[in-house]
Amino acid sequence: MNAYDSRKMADVLAPMGYNEVDEPEGADMIILNTCHIREKATEKVFSELGRLKKHKQDAEKEDRKVLMAVAGCVAQAEGDFIAERAPYVDMVFGPQSFGTLPEMVAEATGAYGKKRIINTDFEEEDKFDKLPEETIATGPTAFLAVQEGCDKFCTFCVVPYTRGGEYSRRPEAILDEVKALRDQGVREVSFLGQNVNAYHGLNADGETKSLAELMLMTAEIDGIERIRYTTSHPRDMQDDLIESHAHPKVMPYLHLPVQSGSNKILKAMNRKHERDLYFEIIEKFRKVRPDIAISGDFIIGFPGETDQDFEDTMDLVRQIKYSSAYSFKYSPRPGTTAAKMGGIIREDIKDARLQELQALLNQQMRDFNEQTIGKELPTLFDGTPREGQLYGRSPYNQAIYVTGHPRLDGQMDTVRITGTNGKSLMGELVLL
Ligand code: SAH
Ligand code: SF4
Repeated sequence: MNAYDSRKMADVLAPMGYNEVDEPEGADMIILNTCHIREKATEKVFSELGRLKKHKQDAEKEDRKVLMAVAGCVAQAEGDFIAERAPYVDMVFGPQSFGTLPEMVAEATGAYGKKRIINTDFEEEDKFDKLPEETIATGPTAFLAVQEGCDKFCTFCVVPYTRGGEYSRRPEAILDEVKALRDQGVREVSFLGQNVNAYHGLNADGETKSLAELMLMTAEIDGIERIRYTTSHPRDMQDDLIESHAHPKVMPYLHLPVQSGSNKILKAMNRKHERDLYFEIIEKFRKVRPDIAISGDFIIGFPGETDQDFEDTMDLVRQIKYSSAYSFKYSPRPGTTAAKMGGIIREDIKDARLQELQALLNQQMRDFNEQTIGKELPTLFDGTPREGQLYGRSPYNQAIYVTGHPRLDGQMDTVRITGTNGKSLMGELVLL
């Protein structure tokens, strides 16, 4: 979502004459787009700011002005603190307000006197109405926010506070954006949302469209060959979304976080479902697409997590068999209910549990990848990491490296998988 927001900021700034550069040296504006989800991400903001300040100071010696901005969820949550601690920052704005960047830049550089901008309001109107309809494509795959925010208030999570309440974009606006991306050579779209399967967009006829309906409408668009979506919540899972995976353009990949395999911890997290629901959902998906790749998120060391609770998580993982997953140590976040809970888990216990879980998940990823050796998989090439080498993704979202001509970049081709290093795949082009 942050990568998508950063692209949108570039789109908003393009008409003002700004274009993206690869490094901060010589830039006229530096925007640090930030994440508040865990403490580690937040800590990085201040160390990065300290580093970036130098570019502003160097420019001043040459009588050149550099605008410095902090955007994203840390800006939203800690705007005043940043303003106080980093006086060289000119603009602080949250993830809901970057549609007004042209106005903020005008004020911050104003002919009638410069103004420092602190903008952490939640806009009343549709944030997306302020953004340019067209995203500039950067390759054959494109991310597209369709839903934002969350009303679920899991006890560990800051998202409802930083991104605001749940909101779905209009289907027509999304489909127009997909067509515009298609016209720029995009073949794969990934629909984004904090709870993307809660999507319920109202169309011009006043009908509500589900994520599955949106994906099937997208599948009708010529030139779009692959559709993905992330991230889903078990509570919002509808049968029509599961069934949409029968469509050849809907990729056989599901990212469905469960966080914990213990019913007691799920309850304390306010996830509002038990582990059985998760098993039922995965079973339904596997009925529709037996080969579907399952991915998830886990939090280890939530307050009160006993050895048995952790063992329940390990048991769930053993049963599900993931193709990939993200796992994190619980990080107490300011303002959340869990941050006030007792039963804090010792750091060394968290470390040991995380290591054990990650060893299992890595083994499952290796097993999944090894199963694809010898198979011929349609691969969408999206980059040339080295001369003579192409990088692409399989339908199961595996990274694949092959030797091939750069003219194939952006194309879909069949690759025979020859090996894996556990994480990614090696293969060779099958010339039909
Ligand atoms: N809406 C999604 C997740 C969004 S946040 C869901 O409900 O599943 C992305 C991931 O960050 C979460 O799945 C969780 O695993 C992790 N995360 C969020 N808050 C965290 C915290 N306080 N400590 C550790 N991990 C956290
Ligand atoms: Fe955070 Fe996801 Fe829970 Fe919403 S559903 S509060 S985004 S973890």
